[in-house]
Amino acid sequence: MHLMKLPEIPIPIIEIPTGKKIKLFMKREDLVHPQISGNKYWKLFFNVNNYVDRNLEKPYIITFGGAFSNHIAAVSAVGNIAGIPTLGLIRGEELKDKWRDNPTLLFAEKNGMNLQFVTREDYRHKEKLTVFLQKEFPDALIIPEGGTNADAVAGVKMMLNDETKDFDYLCTAVGTGGTIAGISKYCEDNQKVIGFKVVDDHSLENRILELTPKKNFSLIDSSFGGYGKIRDENIRFINDFKEKHNIPLEPIYTGKMMQKVFELMDGGFFPEDSRILCFHTGGLQGIEGANLLLEKQNRTLIV
Ligand SMILES: *Cc1c(COP(=O)(O)O)cnc(C)c1O
Repeated sequence: MHLMKLPEIPIPIIEIPTGKKIKLFMKREDLVHPQISGNKYWKLFFNVNNYVDRNLEKPYIITFGGAFSNHIAAVSAVGNIAGIPTLGLIRGEELKDKWRDNPTLLFAEKNGMNLQFVTREDYRHKEKLTVFLQKEFPDALIIPEGGTNADAVAGVKMMLNDETKDFDYLCTAVGTGGTIAGISKYCEDNQKVIGFKVVDDHSLENRILELTPKKNFSLIDSSFGGYGKIRDENIRFINDFKEKHNIPLEPIYTGKMMQKVFELMDGGFFPEDSRILCFHTGGLQGIEGANLLLEKQNRTLIV
């Protein structure tokens, strides 16, 4: 019996009118599960199912993430549903006293996740921490930050199907690179993959190339000033998009990707008659935390 299952109804692909001779669609991967959202569901799919198959007496899942991490939220939900204890190593020791103000961490804790706060310095050396933890907990499943590993890449294959073969361009937001690696690896040979990079990380391309055998992707900077930074133009875009198309976007990944897609479209990047598919990778849980910060800064909120 597998904990994580294939969805019973196919994930919808929604057309976004462009007013141009270009066909734009979004695949609503955010709808795959109410608590384990979007690409994180697929990245955890084989990691968790293979681990559950081992039938360990005392299973334990350990992972890493920032304060607003969609991956932390997803792993805590998996642990809660499966009855597996989870440990989240969270970047930022200063959160120790104020994590209850953070809706992502509160959600994780309600799911039973044990939260441990790690200094930024220790967090930077999390590979060392992983080696130590694996010695300490030999049976634990330790999932890297953002969930990116070979099993995650294999799971992303499930985001592709007969319907997605029909597009010239496949677009996704890129954080740690596991999702674009899976799309690159498993898409059709004639399809172009575009990654909208929301982090300023120059090693990303090489790390993606370690996870996919194909060089069919390109990366476009979409960080709008840096990872996690939210500009007023980003908020305007997200709110406008929701009103026009009735699709919610969050400000860290999918909002920035879609804004950049429209910029590219207006700049003539896509040839006429192109068929573009953007993956909605979920993460809508992050809106609440983003709005708390925006509220403190007296800025417009995300609707
Ligand atoms: C984690 C995440 C991404 C990035 O996925 P990677 O595999 O880390 O590149 C994109 N969108 C959302 C909503 C995410 O939560």
